[in-house]
Amino acid sequence: MKLTIIGCSGSMSGPESPASGYLVEATGNDAGTGRDVALTLDFGPGVMGKLLAYRDPALLDAMLFSHLHADHCADLVGMQVYRRWYPGGEVPRVPLYSPQDGRRRLIQLADDDPTDTYEDEFDFHHVNPGDSFEVGPLHVEAFAANHTVEALCYRITGPSDARPGEQATLTFTGDTDYAPSVVEAARGADTLLSEAAFEEGRDTVRGVHMTGKRAGELARSAGVRDLLLTHLQPWTDPDEVVTEARGAFSGRVTAVRAGQTYRI
Ligand SMILES: [Zn+2]
Ligand SMILES: [Zn+2]
Repeated sequence: MKLTIIGCSGSMSGPESPASGYLVEATGNDAGTGRDVALTLDFGPGVMGKLLAYRDPALLDAMLFSHLHADHCADLVGMQVYRRWYPGGEVPRVPLYSPQDGRRRLIQLADDDPTDTYEDEFDFHHVNPGDSFEVGPLHVEAFAANHTVEALCYRITGPSDARPGEQATLTFTGDTDYAPSVVEAARGADTLLSEAAFEEGRDTVRGVHMTGKRAGELARSAGVRDLLLTHLQPWTDPDEVVTEARGAFSGRVTAVRAGQTYRI
């Protein structure tokens, strides 16, 4: 698997990055076609434009959403327009996985006709904790997050790029505070892409986000190999959050930046 950070700015787009959006590609494993399989994780403000730099939207196999807060899904409007109106040929329907009602949320964002089904653009799936599904060679499992709305963590297992011939696991927390279900989602993962939107001492409200320290504790409890921190707001110093996480977790800790890729 290859992970590309399309956008990682927390809660809003930032001066150097779109809001939340990640591309996961599995190399050469789409049985029958021989091409790469690709899915997106979240699709916040600014992500559509940047995705165009990485991949033809017609060659996207699934869109996954951790939850439907605007900073994680607002550019779905751009993807819908692209798929319906692209003049260069047919753009096939793409499966869309989310908690809550993805179609209703898109109508809300786009202010479209409330009866629009978007059936030529998206195949909507309502995902609950405990559900699992396949995207080509990628096996995806959903776990409950601890956030202000219905939200999911995704555990994705597929062919490893770092260790050819083996399987690797990427866990994406979405937005969540520390919770036992999040530890289960991350158990033994090669890479944990964890939000760390809060700072110890500054952000004391619970049930919304993790601090760097709690993300580090999550990585330690789950026994992951690498910890990637994301969803830092423009007002947060990445060094602060990384230092907090390193205090709790002895593995590799990195605050991601837009444009980076990781071979998992
Ligand atoms: Zn968010
Ligand atoms: Zn949120």
